[in-house]
Amino acid sequence: MHKRLYIPGPVEVRPDVLEKMATPMIGHRTKDASALQQGISEKLQKVMQTKNTIVLSTSSGSGLMEGAVRSFTKTRAAVFSIGAFGKRWYKMCTSNGIEADLFESELGQITTPEMLEQALSTGKYDLITITQNETSTGIHNPMARLAEVYKKYPDVIVCVDAVSSMGGDLIPVDELGIDVCITSSQKCLGLPPGLAIASVSDKAIAKAETVENRGLYFDYLELVKFVKEKPYQYPSTPSESHMFALDYQLDRILEEGIENRYKRHCEMAEIVRDWARKNCELYSDPDNLSVTVTCITNTTGLAFSDINKAMGERGYLMSNGYGPLKDKTFRIAHMADTTVDEINQMLKDLDEVIAELKAKA
Ligand SMILES: *Cc1c(COP(=O)(O)O)cnc(C)c1O
Repeated sequence: MHKRLYIPGPVEVRPDVLEKMATPMIGHRTKDASALQQGISEKLQKVMQTKNTIVLSTSSGSGLMEGAVRSFTKTRAAVFSIGAFGKRWYKMCTSNGIEADLFESELGQITTPEMLEQALSTGKYDLITITQNETSTGIHNPMARLAEVYKKYPDVIVCVDAVSSMGGDLIPVDELGIDVCITSSQKCLGLPPGLAIASVSDKAIAKAETVENRGLYFDYLELVKFVKEKPYQYPSTPSESHMFALDYQLDRILEEGIENRYKRHCEMAEIVRDWARKNCELYSDPDNLSVTVTCITNTTGLAFSDINKAMGERGYLMSNGYGPLKDKTFRIAHMADTTVDEINQMLKDLDEVIAELKAKA
């Protein structure tokens, strides 16, 4: 039996979107391939609310995250971490020999404007990374408040991890002054894993021209060159299957409208939070909860593995906690094309499963 995915990626993919993955291949150097990529780029610019250049990568989001710190750091990176994925960005720096400092918040808490100000005012950093939505703890950073700080430092390249939120949460890239905004196909965009997406500002492109040892496969200059000069092509052979599905799915997303999509995510999040407050506890800072994934402290007295197994028998898959929160919390994703009705039905089953397990205990 297929288990419906309520994990924070990969997500449930609608059958008509999956079908587009089976579109016959085309020559990747043809006009048709360029037209496909151009269409995708223009639609993504609407979803990401940006005029910046869109690059695609046949990899998961991590590829473009690693490529970003390699392509745009010349002196030193300041990595602001609010959990597992922020720390990963720090590891990408150190393992590539990029000078970097890690500024960690307590788990479940945001990056504060004060932390940013303190680091940037030293003048030591030419790149910062921020996690817009931290999937391990279910919080999102107050980007508008953070932008007020980093906009005072226009020489700094601002890289944002929006992997688990672009297409669900509202992230107006240009208004927020984000130079490099990265996402993956398998989260809020509702596609299979295997494609990464980023928007890149002209300022970042000019900066990369001054950086050495950018690598090749994930070199943003190389990706941008093929978009601008060929135009709208990819340096190697892209996953055309993903591109067909993405092109189709972006039409669906824009048809729903990004504001409506955001509202639906907020509504689903509110329902899951209400359930958590009533039956367990919310793990993270209540003022900055993610609209795409909720991290719940397991106070049921039952092992989450037992809950998830019983839910599995009803055709659902949820997620345990991440890293140090593995056994203490569990997570319910409410992202991509999941509907309010589906969330309500899932929580009803969850109530029944918990009651059954308690009766047996
Ligand atoms: C999933 C995730 C990643 C990693 O993305 P991949 O596509 O698996 O490489 C990075 N950051 C966040 C916040 C994520 O949720």
